[in-house]
Amino acid sequence: MTTKIIHFTVNGRLEQAEFGAECSAADVKDLFRAAAEAGPHHILKLYNTNGGVVNISPQLEANTRDSHYRLEVVASDLKGVGMPSEIDKMECRLSHLESKVIEGVGKTPDIICDLHSQVESFKKKLESVAHLSWMGLFREDADQHLAKFSPKPGAPQLSMEEEHQLVHTKFLNMSSLQVTEEVRELLKSPIFDNWQWEEAEMLVLLQVMFTDLEFLTALHIELAILQNFLFEVYRHYNSIPFHNFRHCFCVTQMMYGLIWLTELRSKLSSADLLIMLTSALCHDLDHPGYNNVYQINAQTDLALRYNDISPLENHHCAMAFRILSKPECNILKNLTVDQYKHIRGGMIKCILATDMARHNEILNRFKVIQPVFDFGNKEHKEVLMKIMVKVSDISNEARPMAVAEPWLDCLLQEFFNQSDTEKLQGLPVTPFMDRDKVSKPSSQTNFIRFVLLPLFSELTKLFPCLEQHILEPVRHALEYYSELERASRDTGGVDEP
Ligand code: 5GP
Ligand code: MN
Repeated sequence: MTTKIIHFTVNGRLEQAEFGAECSAADVKDLFRAAAEAGPHHILKLYNTNGGVVNISPQLEANTRDSHYRLEVVASDLKGVGMPSEIDKMECRLSHLESKVIEGVGKTPDIICDLHSQVESFKKKLESVAHLSWMGLFREDADQHLAKFSPKPGAPQLSMEEEHQLVHTKFLNMSSLQVTEEVRELLKSPIFDNWQWEEAEMLVLLQVMFTDLEFLTALHIELAILQNFLFEVYRHYNSIPFHNFRHCFCVTQMMYGLIWLTELRSKLSSADLLIMLTSALCHDLDHPGYNNVYQINAQTDLALRYNDISPLENHHCAMAFRILSKPECNILKNLTVDQYKHIRGGMIKCILATDMARHNEILNRFKVIQPVFDFGNKEHKEVLMKIMVKVSDISNEARPMAVAEPWLDCLLQEFFNQSDTEKLQGLPVTPFMDRDKVSKPSSQTNFIRFVLLPLFSELTKLFPCLEQHILEPVRHALEYYSELERASRDTGGVDEP
């Protein structure tokens, strides 16, 4: 039985492959794939000394070290995603053209080399654009922005599943430890700094919120069930720049702080407080990083499923009840049918109210009832609960500047991702997300003037104590960003986004 020895270079190394005549075509391809450290979706090409492409097969002609072949991984064969398959097709057509020309002329003409390098540089460009990762080309280390989503240097790369498991184990190990009184108190305040805590710790802090509001006793929630529920919520937030688990934590923590600051425990039932805290926790579950306008314009599955009516909020809420439908996660399982109905109805109302397209509708209703607010009135309570979830949702600027500012970077990163995609897909570009039109100061001055101040001042009329806790910091942020905007206008410069 004869063994063929094939010499070839790959990634600058000289290698040799040995196989017998009985080897199948698939085996030979796998052998070269392994040598190139290529995945199953990569396309391999073998070139002879004349630059001609040769078939990787058992019939491959044996050669010597001096007449070695050159093996290259030319592309990733990503099926089902728009752009890469276009690039692949372009490369394949180019290679086909190249081999035809070589047959006739004997060498690759300059024009084809030029075309090759143009395709290469276009691919490089795509590889460096983090938010086009859905195209399957992005290389994680290409963009510093997403460094926080990448593993630390030297750390073994974990799959998402392994990462979640690690957080789960840490959470359960830590949850039995006592959280200090100091942290428990800080947790009740809008000055709490979320950036100091890692995911497992945030899960412990969420558990503290449920226990310190005495939900476990009042609503017969078993600790293990609460832990399963919190972990499933964590697992269903995506690793995207803004609408991630940390945002969920912040919104929930603000809701928790507002409950204590306004002494709502003396005015609302445990069930109502649970509705507010759990709505905050679940309000952005499985957010894809592209808003409703995009969902509707791009006619995504979510827009189709929900007939363009708050597709994201409907999805977040449906996800919440899908998680609760698992018996091991169902924190509502020991309640009566009526209590369950009340909490489900309340959560649906609160989560759907976070669609900013309904902002004026909800705020205007609150403005009407605020002067005659009655905690005994069911509708008044419902509007207040929606308003408080909404306030928590958009409360970053009520936090200390050092906590708030990084959130703005995250938000703009997600906005710019969307507008870039809209441009690429030929969809209408959402103006406040356009990197060519928006800067940090311009984004915040408008948002604070027209959205935050009118909303926060209305709630402060009902709870004057909130003035110092949420209104003042927001006014301060407006001064800060107005000053930046003025300075940028005076120097005639374009604001740095
Ligand atoms: P969410 O999508 O988080 O449920 O709803 C809140 C929306 O309000 C965000 O998507 C975003 O459009 C807007 N928003 C929240 N916080 C800020 C902010 O600090 N600045 C600006 N410009 N928009 C914000
Ligand atoms: Mn949100």
